Amino acid sequence: MLPAPYAKEPVFEAHRWHAAESSYRKVAGLFGYQEVRTPIFEDIELFLRSSGETSDVVSKEMYDFKDKGDRHVALRPEGTAPAMRAYIDSSMGGQGVVSRLCYFGPVFRYNRPQKGRYRQFHQAGYELIGSPSPLADAEIITATVRYFKEIGLDNLVVKVNSIGRAETRGAYELAILSHVDKWLDGQDEEQQAKARKNPLRLLDTKDPDLRAELDGLPSILGFLGDDSKANFAALQEHLAESGVAYEVDDSIVRGLDYYTDTVFEVVSTEYGALCGGGRYDGLVEQLGGPSTPSVGVGIGVERALLVADMAGKAPRAEAPSRWYVVAATESARAAARTLAIELRSMGVGCTLDLDGRSVKAQFKQADRNGASMTAVLGDDELANETVSVKDLVTGEQKTLPRHVFLRIADD
Ligand code: AMP
Repeated sequence: MLPAPYAKEPVFEAHRWHAAESSYRKVAGLFGYQEVRTPIFEDIELFLRSSGETSDVVSKEMYDFKDKGDRHVALRPEGTAPAMRAYIDSSMGGQGVVSRLCYFGPVFRYNRPQKGRYRQFHQAGYELIGSPSPLADAEIITATVRYFKEIGLDNLVVKVNSIGRAETRGAYELAILSHVDKWLDGQDEEQQAKARKNPLRLLDTKDPDLRAELDGLPSILGFLGDDSKANFAALQEHLAESGVAYEVDDSIVRGLDYYTDTVFEVVSTEYGALCGGGRYDGLVEQLGGPSTPSVGVGIGVERALLVADMAGKAPRAEAPSRWYVVAATESARAAARTLAIELRSMGVGCTLDLDGRSVKAQFKQADRNGASMTAVLGDDELANETVSVKDLVTGEQKTLPRHVFLRIADD
């Protein structure tokens, strides 16, 4: 037997991807975002510099390897850093320029697969680059909510938080370390070093002992500087103004190092986070570009589709073509082929039997193909230059002059 694929469930049904992608493109159009397509693999340095070496994504989950030229490369584990690199490389920015970029594509993480967690999955992302305004944060969150709405998910609540600037993080990290002092003493050296290097990550823990230890830890919101506080208040006002349902959740800190101030998630009870985003004012500079405030989101498309399934909003399969041309007699087969050629030359999709099947079998094939209409040619139709049309959904039948049929076929 072949090994199990890296990604399954909704992944193989293309009509779901068409729905997911057309929703993504619709939102891009509504808010004015331009798509970038970046390579699947990148120099590993890009992710080391952006995500931070202690992040789970970089330290445990990266698919990285040396190529034949001894270059250390990685399959992209997320979409933001490549989009930002593309932004810097193509010199899209510039003083005072705001760029709106978006992407949709596969990303790769080495983790334990389960429903809603795959080693290859897809992210749709929106990045607003060049504005420090909380209006930019609100726009990204509003576009995210609109994306979920487009794929059928209406009643989602966005969880927002602010993790402030470097000073806030520094002070809060010290507060975390002193709060879990006793627990930390009981850990091995490696664990201690890791915790000291990035104490915020402790807040993501699933370890029940540490969870208990973290009880009573003061909120990061109490450590915010004045600017961060004002931005967070403004963001909430703008969200309310846009009609976005949100709640403040000070436990959200996000797994990647590059976030500043706003962080947000939409969480489902069954599959965890459906998206993650926030502001990352230092990222462009960290990647070698000019200092550029930015905010963005990465949406987990498989999870969003799974939740849409549960809500009874699974995208419906589209028929590959609407018409099936049926030859009712042997002598009508050539005329059926000619009619199919004509329909296609007019831009109307159709399918027809290639294997001399009986009329009954042709109707069965039409049904199986998802066609909703059949155009039937038999001896009478050939003699009278007509086409008999049967609507497979309503059962309605009528015979039309051939030229009239050709006029209505693309309606
Ligand atoms: P992140 O870049 O970690 O914030 O991830 C963004 C979104 O991608 C998450 O909110 C999830 O919806 C989704 N995601 C992350 N990891 C996986 C995975 N292994 N399989 C499927 N979706 C994932």
